[in-house]
This record gives sequence, C-alpha cells and structure tokens, in this order.
Amino acid sequence: MSGSHAKHLVLILTCLVLLAGCRAQRRSNERQASASSPAAALAAQSPLPFGGIRFSGEYGTRFAAAAAHLLTWTDLYTLDSFVAATAGRPGSLWWDWPGDQIGRWLSVVHVARGYGWSGEAWPPQILLEAVLPYQTEAGHFGPEASAADVRLLSGNAFALRGMMDAFADTADARFLEAARRLGRFFERLAPDWETRRDGHLHEFYGHCLDGLVALHTQAGDRWALDAAERIAVHAGRTQHTHHSLSLMRGLVDLAEATGQREYLDRVEDYLAWCRESRSVTGGLPEGMPVSEQDEGCGLADWVVVNMMMAAATGQARYIDDAEQTLVNHFFLNQFHTGGFGHLSFGQEVVGGKQWQGWEGRFGSENPGCCSLWGMWAFGQAGRYAVTESGDTVFVNLYAEADAALPEKGVRLEIRGDFPRMSEIRVRIACAEPRRFTLALRVPAWAEAAEIWCGGERVKPPVRGGRVLISRAWAGTTDVDIVFKSALRLAPWPVAKPLGVGVFDGPLCMALPATAGDLDAPWSVLVDGSGRLLPDAIGRPQVIDPSGRAASLEPVSAGWLLPDAKDPVRRRILFSTWRAL
Ligand SMILES: [Zn+2]
Repeated sequence: MSGSHAKHLVLILTCLVLLAGCRAQRRSNERQASASSPAAALAAQSPLPFGGIRFSGEYGTRFAAAAAHLLTWTDLYTLDSFVAATAGRPGSLWWDWPGDQIGRWLSVVHVARGYGWSGEAWPPQILLEAVLPYQTEAGHFGPEASAADVRLLSGNAFALRGMMDAFADTADARFLEAARRLGRFFERLAPDWETRRDGHLHEFYGHCLDGLVALHTQAGDRWALDAAERIAVHAGRTQHTHHSLSLMRGLVDLAEATGQREYLDRVEDYLAWCRESRSVTGGLPEGMPVSEQDEGCGLADWVVVNMMMAAATGQARYIDDAEQTLVNHFFLNQFHTGGFGHLSFGQEVVGGKQWQGWEGRFGSENPGCCSLWGMWAFGQAGRYAVTESGDTVFVNLYAEADAALPEKGVRLEIRGDFPRMSEIRVRIACAEPRRFTLALRVPAWAEAAEIWCGGERVKPPVRGGRVLISRAWAGTTDVDIVFKSALRLAPWPVAKPLGVGVFDGPLCMALPATAGDLDAPWSVLVDGSGRLLPDAIGRPQVIDPSGRAASLEPVSAGWLLPDAKDPVRRRILFSTWRAL
C-alpha cells in the first residue's frame, strides 16, 4: 500500500466515523423531537416578525385602511398636538391623559414600519425631541399636580411601551433613557397602586407591565423585570376592559420572560370573566361586567391577548375566541374611515349611536385612542396567524397572507374566502426538501374538515382543534381545505340564553335597522326539526310579529357605508319560529 493510498484510507475512515457520528446525533435529535412532540410542540409557539407576513384580501384591506387613516391624518395628529398631549395641556384629543397619544403613536409606527409602511408625518426622533422637555424630574409626562391621577398613569404606561417600541425601531438611546425614567416612576409608585382597585392592581397603573418587561427583554434591565413581578401578583378582575386586557398582555409577556406559567392562570381567569359578558358577536362591554357601549381598544386587546395565549399555552380554543371577535364585532366596530370607536352594546342589539366626543366631530369614531389601537391590533394579531414551534408550523388564522419562514426555507401562501373560510388553499413552497409538521387549526365552528395534500385526500385525526400533517415537503405543495358548516343557531348567552344567534360558519348574522323595527320580537324561521329555513339565495330569514319576513346579513356587512355619525343598529338575538 503506498503512502498516498494510506492517507486516503485514513481520510475515508475519518469521514465514515464523522458521518456515523452525525447520523447518530441526527437520530438522537429526531428521537428527542418525537419524544417531545406533539405535546411539547403545542406549547410556546413563536409568532412571526412583522416583516415575516403580508396580508391581502379582507384582512389586508382593513389593516391598510386603518394604517392609511392614521399615517395620513396630518391635520389631526399635528406636532403641536403631540406636545400638548404629552405636556398635559389643551390642544389635542386626550390631552388629559398625558403620554397616551405619543405612546400609542410610537407603537403604531413600530407596527407600520414592521409591515413595510414608511413616510409617517412625524418620525419618532422628531417627536422625541419635541416632547422630551416635558418629562419631569419624577420621570413622568404631564403636570406634577396630576401625578396621582389615574389618567396620567395610564397615559404614561402607554408612553413607556411606545418609547421601547421606538427604541426597537431606531436604536436611539434617548428612547431607552426616557423609558427607564418612566419605568422607575412606576416602580416607585407601586405601593400606592398595587392593591388600589378593590384590593387588586389598579388597571390604569398596572398596564405599565408590558413596558417594564420590554425594558428587561430589550435592554437587560433586571430591576424592571423584578418590579413587574412584584406588582403582577396583585392582578385580578378589574373593571375597565381595555386597560385590564392591556395589563393581561403584560402578564403574558411576563410569563414568557420568566418561564412562570402561573401568570397565564391570572390571564385565563380574566378572560373567563370577559367570556361571561361577551355578546354572540364576540363583543365586550367597555367596562366589565356591563356597559351600554363597547370600545375599539378593548376589542383590539381582546383579540391580541387571545392570540398570545394560544401561542403561550398551545391551546387553539383561544384562537376560536379571537376569531369570533375579529371577524364579527371587531370588524363591526371599524368605520369606513378605517378607524375604530364606540358602538352601543347589548346582548340583543349592537351597533347604534352612543358616546360621541368632541361635539360629535368624528361621529362614533374615537381617534384619540381606538383608531390607533385598532390598527395596532391588526399588526400584532397578524404576527400570530402563522406560528412556529420546533419542527412544527401552525396555521392559526386563514386570513389571506404570504408568510416566510426563512430558517426552514419555507414560504406559505394562504388563499381563500376569509372571513367566511369555507375553502382555503395553503401553498407550501420549500427552497430545499424539508421534513416538518404542518398543524392546521380546525375552527370550533367547522363541523368537519376535508383536506387534500398535493391533490391526495388525507384524513389526519383532529386533536385539540388541529390536524397535523407530518411529511417531507419538497418544491411546491398545495394543501386544500374545505371547512364544512351549515347555518346554525347558537343559544346566547351560553349560561342563560336570551335568544339564539344565527351563524353562517364563523360569521354572526344580524338584522340591520334598515330592515324594520329592531325592538319588535323578531323570530328566525326553522322547520319542524329545528333546522333553519333560508331564503332563495341561502340567507337565514326572520319574521316580525306581523309575519313580515327579512333576511339576515353578516353583522360586519357594509363597513364602508359612511355611517360613523349615526351607526346602523343590528339585532343579533332572535327567538325561533317553527314553520309548519
Ligand atoms: Zn379607545
């Protein structure tokens, strides 16, 4: 054997040993993966970065309308208005909530930039320079004399979060410094507010949690996480829906940052309380447990918190709750302007005129807070439409979208008839052949799911609201889904029904006031066995006591009608009337 042959042999043997080692390692990884899935794979899913998903269809259109409305409304959100709102003096919409407008705006810009919008009238750094002189010695924005006013606390909590979002966008240390001073202000105030609301953490103060957690996750400030943990133990069932749900969002962030899952139990408790007051459209009262109107901000945080909880716990039932609200009441609350606000709220009739601020200048829209938070929610909830955990890709919402998973070299195109969601195609495109599990959510409203993968019918079992398709994916594969669902009746409220809601798949059907007197006892037509009797084109029908018939439409229908000054009321619960 020559020396050169010997060297080759050594090289070949070395390669074989290395290869065997790699294979053993890979087998071990695969074993670990299969030992930990599906149970472990169903928990702690990661959302996509904003830039990882682009929406089209109805979700994309509504999101774009919400964003364009804010980013181009330069005669409302003027530089002077930001200064007034931050200093806490007249000259902007909610000037008596110092810090609120700038905080929400910075969070909105964070979402807008993340999704590729640019050219906002007031870039974060210009705003910062204008408002920084109004940050007091004590660290907050607004007059010293109001430092114990819950509106100042809430506004400054939004400012804290917004400063951290702007820090993420710009890496400008002045945002971090301003946020740290706000964080220290909240840390100092904890003894005054942590049990101030009937023994619970006051929600106007307590929604500073998300900003405190962000100080730790983005800047490594351990003191801020410690402060968040100290105050979080007092979180409970507090009255103001929006601020409480913002607080709950902070608790989910805190659970993620600390690995302490008991924070999620507190969130579940608050969500359970909200579920009791929910309308059949997924709407919530502005204040818990009863209120004569809803609030766009509260609906926005409800959708986002439920999507976050689904990812944190792996439980798809939270997505059912988010989706029920998203495609019904949240869409109902969006005006033709793209903004959000307040509609009258009840269990039987929703949608009419209630509070209209600023002498009715904006009708029922509330561009002081709801229009900002509604846009923000489209972007934040959208990150959770597709999530990842290990080698599993979850499709949670079937809004039309293109999603990129660069680490896997995979792209997803979701197309279909969202928000009705009867037929959907998820196209999977892989740069290289790749083995992974596709976890498709099967909504609670679907009676059955029929699925074809690459043209072949597949019948994976439904577990925990999902079907799992594990295979080696290569090139482009179409996954076609049909969700079967007939028109159905839903007794509501579930615990003590006042009537029945009518659903077409996920869509809650309603009778608009243009069809007749909504205060009359309308009944939905059913046959002898209780099945709905639709009209000639498949719409559910209702009749009033005189026997006059009318057809129902989705509760969010006609969102581009310019009715913000006098929103259309809609009946959503009915009795049943059996046709002989
Ligand atoms: Zn609001």
